[in-house]
Amino acid sequence: MLKPKNILIVGAGFTGAVVARKLAEAGHMATVIDERGHVAGNCHTARDKETGVMVHVYGPHIFHTDNARVWEFINHHCEMMPYRHQVRANVGGKIFSMPINLHTINQFFSTSMSPKEAQTFVQGLAECDVDDPTTFEEQALKFVGRDIYEAFFRGYTLKQWGLEPKRLPASILKRLPLRFTYDDNYFAHGFQGIPRDGYTAAVDSILDHPNIVVRLSTTAENLDGDAGYDHVVYTGSLDRYFDHTLGRLAYRTLRFEKEVKDAPYQGTAVLNYCDVDVPFTRITEHMYFAPWEAGKFDKSVIYTEFSETAKAGDIPYYPVRLVDDMAMLDSYVSLANATSGVTFAGRLGTYAYLDMDVSIARAFDVAEHIETAFAQDRKPDAFVHEM
Ligand code: FAD
Ligand code: UDP
Repeated sequence: MLKPKNILIVGAGFTGAVVARKLAEAGHMATVIDERGHVAGNCHTARDKETGVMVHVYGPHIFHTDNARVWEFINHHCEMMPYRHQVRANVGGKIFSMPINLHTINQFFSTSMSPKEAQTFVQGLAECDVDDPTTFEEQALKFVGRDIYEAFFRGYTLKQWGLEPKRLPASILKRLPLRFTYDDNYFAHGFQGIPRDGYTAAVDSILDHPNIVVRLSTTAENLDGDAGYDHVVYTGSLDRYFDHTLGRLAYRTLRFEKEVKDAPYQGTAVLNYCDVDVPFTRITEHMYFAPWEAGKFDKSVIYTEFSETAKAGDIPYYPVRLVDDMAMLDSYVSLANATSGVTFAGRLGTYAYLDMDVSIARAFDVAEHIETAFAQDRKPDAFVHEM
């Protein structure tokens, strides 16, 4: 083993915690800081004092993956409980099944079509003859036709992104399946679950290693300039690291209005509101994320979720990634590549929409890259994955 290195990791979310763990297991010393007073980043969960319900403090998080290595890793750090995510959508005051499946189609058109009939019918609705749709709207029109697009996607997407779907990339809609069966599982991955004691306990376990020191309520910008670290892994926003010198990368932020209601309130974990004249996007009822605690609560915690443009000081949640943002991102990437001693990682550090499983898989790669670079006596790169 070479001389252990001293590494500073900014951010105690999944990315920072997993990089720290892997480097610590390789014999290096990791100091993990986070400006928040808790670990787990946006996946943080905490029991609500009044009701006892486990709340997903920064919005609903369901763990789903096809990556066996990631699934094994997370199961080593928590007890993953079986959970199957189902979402309902309120359209014009009626409740439908989401993502669009045979039940949704039959409900929406008041029909009783078979899978094959529905497939032929929906193909007949397709309005866009572009072979390879690039915008959200083209993708939707090709995928489900105008009626379903207008009812389920246009209003919700306008509220979620603050932009006409014509201006958004097709990739956002491609996250959702279209099924001609009654399968209403929101996710299509082989492994799915939620940690029995919440995500924060899982991240605590990842960080529980003798070579890891965690310092909460500590902001990177307030640290001493040269604190003697051999390398920094930065999982905060790329533009923030450079003090926004080249401008602000666009993000959506979320505002959650928390209320306590008599249990049960809406009867499911997530109810989307697709109409544009309803100001919020969805209501989350947190007790349904812990089906193994069913029947335990008299009172229920709900979050009504509003999506807004992130301003200075707001929490950046979703990278917008429009053409202008991508040009600015390129400039930041050049700046970062010309800066030594820091590797950018995670959802904010790479300005990417990453699910938890992808964040963990990428964190494995980042740690392996840093370890290899140290072993070969070279400086780790600014980015490990293609930007
Ligand atoms: P984060 O969790 O954002 O952690 C970064 C940490 O860095 C934060 O704690 C922050 O405080 C800290 N930090 C930043 N800058 C500084 C600084 N300068 N100094 C000190 N600390 C700093 N994924 C799923 O797999 N399933 C889901 O159902 C799901 N739902 C989601 C719902 C919402 C509303 C959102 C926004 C995301 C969802 N995700 C989901 C994605 C998931 O949140 C991310 O994959 C995960 O949080 C990424 O972890 P991270 O460590 O890269 O970033
Ligand atoms: N979407 C929609 N209506 C819905 C659910 C989703 O229009 O009822 C769109 C919306 O633009 C969203 C995208 O589909 O951003 C992808 O859905 P996903 O559940 O992945 O949403 P996100 O993670 O962005 O909240």
